[in-house]
Amino acid sequence: MVYNITLIPGDGIGPEITEATKRVLEATGIGFHWDLVYVGGGVQAKIGTPLPDNVIESIRKNRIALKGPVTTPVGSGFRSVNVALRKELGLYACLRLCKTYAGAPSLYKDIDIVIVRENIEDLYSGIEFEVGSPEAARLIRFISEATGEVVRQDSGLSIKVISGMRSRRIVRFAFEYARAHQRKKVTAVHKANIMKFSDGLFLSAAREVAEEYPDIEFEDRIVDNMNMQLVQKPQRFDVVVAPNLYGDLLSDLCAGLIGGLGLAPGANLSDDMAVFEPTHGSAPKYTGLNKANPMAMMLSGVMMLRYLGEGEGADRLEKAIAEVIAEGKDVTYDLKPEAPHTAVGTSQVANAVVEKLSRY
Ligand code: NAD
Repeated sequence: MVYNITLIPGDGIGPEITEATKRVLEATGIGFHWDLVYVGGGVQAKIGTPLPDNVIESIRKNRIALKGPVTTPVGSGFRSVNVALRKELGLYACLRLCKTYAGAPSLYKDIDIVIVRENIEDLYSGIEFEVGSPEAARLIRFISEATGEVVRQDSGLSIKVISGMRSRRIVRFAFEYARAHQRKKVTAVHKANIMKFSDGLFLSAAREVAEEYPDIEFEDRIVDNMNMQLVQKPQRFDVVVAPNLYGDLLSDLCAGLIGGLGLAPGANLSDDMAVFEPTHGSAPKYTGLNKANPMAMMLSGVMMLRYLGEGEGADRLEKAIAEVIAEGKDVTYDLKPEAPHTAVGTSQVANAVVEKLSRY
């Protein structure tokens, strides 16, 4: 069996960690045909769009992709390729696994949290009004008429959109994941005390869906309190479901709890399509330096193998990565905070994982 996978190296550290991940996936002995496609600033400069049609077509055809991170210009320039891809393909669920591996530089042990983040709406809906634009002025007038609230004329506005359907869909995804993976509890995260009509809707949808799953415990947390509890006792949490922005923030927080972004894998999913990618971004300052940790992308590859039904190959690859982390010799700088000068580079990590795989 050979799997057709769309491979998107991304930019910044993306191409290096993609190459390392491709090597370890091939070393499992599973067959892949990589459909290599490009996105981002380089493509934008050549053909005028950072997300060409052939990328979307390739993912639609293969229904599965492995993707490196892509830089998004801050403040101006093109909109996020990552957000556009998720919206275009309807990849409504973002799944991020945060698990402690022995030997990783973490203050904690035994964390095994799954973050399920809504991927399409909330403040990421892309509905924004630039300061000084006629549209912003109209909206400001409308708000004043409708609510009596005064919004300053020199305001930019980003709209937070939360729908009942998409809230129920993401919470159901979290419960289905919990059930399929023998998880015991789902925690919904929100700020419904302040944003009663958006987060309040998310919370009531979560409560409604939770009733369909009496076998799984359900609780909710206000997002600020959730941050504190995660830092104090992360082992208390199992599956966590949140609207888009809180899910984004919680993902990086949880990555920090387990030893850093270099160990945090992820996937963007619809009911029949999946794009696997690490939680972290393109870390531009490390571009081309053979310095970044490829393990978050390798672990995203492990998630991809499980998705493909290649459980045995996934177990072997995860074990090989875990052994390299536990030995602590062939790891990148982020996993060696006490002795960064002894760290190895991206490609040496791949060599070490391939060597482990060759033994079993
Ligand atoms: P980042 O995740 O790229 O990097 C933050 C810091 O984390 C880095 O400076 C580095 O110290 C560390 N880090 C990240 N990945 C690492 C790795 N694999 N190995 C070792 N250290 C690692 O976040 P940022 O600097 O805020 O974002 C850079 C760019 O990436 C931005 O343009 C942002 O929009 C984009 N981004 C893309 C994605 C994606 O493609 N899915 C996700 C997040 C951010």
